[in-house]
Amino acid sequence: MKSYRKELWFHVPTRRAFLNITPKVRECLGESGIREGLVLCNAMHITASVFINDDEPGLHQDYEDWLERLAPHEPVSRYRHNVGEDNADAHLKRQVMGREVVVAVTEGKLDLGPWEQIFYGEFDGRRKKRVLVKIIGE
Ligand code: ZN
Repeated sequence: MKSYRKELWFHVPTRRAFLNITPKVRECLGESGIREGLVLCNAMHITASVFINDDEPGLHQDYEDWLERLAPHEPVSRYRHNVGEDNADAHLKRQVMGREVVVAVTEGKLDLGPWEQIFYGEFDGRRKKRVLVKIIGE
């Protein structure tokens, strides 16, 4: 069995953003040389997510609005976690959107559904953060 590991770094200039990282994950798969197996892709930070959904800007705005209703950033004083920091909402948003995805690799390709794309969800940006890509198989 082959094994591949890479860290993808991101520096999102805003507090929140969704980045389509499918091309980067595909690049990793190409580098790995693996034809049959699994890709694990996870955020390495507790205020960011990796998830799969549609690359559609209206939907991304819907996520943003929905998450902001669930866990508003302001007022930061509403959260017990916010002692010396202001990112409690980011921890909660991350929990809802998930830590990782697993994608099958078939014949050297990401075996995604027709509209599935892999996203990095940033909820407390403006600093360097990373995603782990681990691929195993043959
Ligand atoms: Zn925190």
